[in-house]
Amino acid sequence: MEKDKLLELFKSTGALQHGHFKLTSGLHSPDYFQCAKVLQYPQYNEILCGEIARHFHDWRVEIVVAPAIGGIMVGQEVARQMRVRGIFAEREDSKMSLRRGFEIKEGERVLVCEDVVTTGGSVQEVVGIVRKAGGTVVGVASIVDRSKTSINFGAKFFPLLKMEVPVYQPEACPLCKENVPIEKPGSRKVDAA
Ligand code: ZN
Repeated sequence: MEKDKLLELFKSTGALQHGHFKLTSGLHSPDYFQCAKVLQYPQYNEILCGEIARHFHDWRVEIVVAPAIGGIMVGQEVARQMRVRGIFAEREDSKMSLRRGFEIKEGERVLVCEDVVTTGGSVQEVVGIVRKAGGTVVGVASIVDRSKTSINFGAKFFPLLKMEVPVYQPEACPLCKENVPIEKPGSRKVDAA
């Protein structure tokens, strides 16, 4: 899918919002991206993950592993389309691990899937789990890459979209200077009817 079409899909589903936001980091930004807003539509998840499944079609992937929670919907859909197992790693005492009896076999060819890569920390942890189990990471895929520098996972990295989001220190924020009302993303409550 072309970049413009992807951005249009993100906007129409509310995944990408434009305004004046205070991020959890405390920085201000004119853009806010919440991948779950687009993935909540199975038909869009199918299209987006289809691009990943096609890209890695000839890589003999045997299992998809995703970091919870964000990566689960992507990993599961990619696994479904590739007709392979799909599992996820989750945080336990702040450390990523495989639970629920999930296993990676020695020599298994693994595709790691994430929704959004920002620092790449969670993906790096999953890559570490796979290698420790004796698996081979054939690639890493994500819907969006928001990293500032290109991250080296030691395997082919395939994001559908590289997205640059401007961030400002509050005191240097041009939107604050223009008195644009600020909001905290995700804090808007939806009232029950
Ligand atoms: Zn601001």
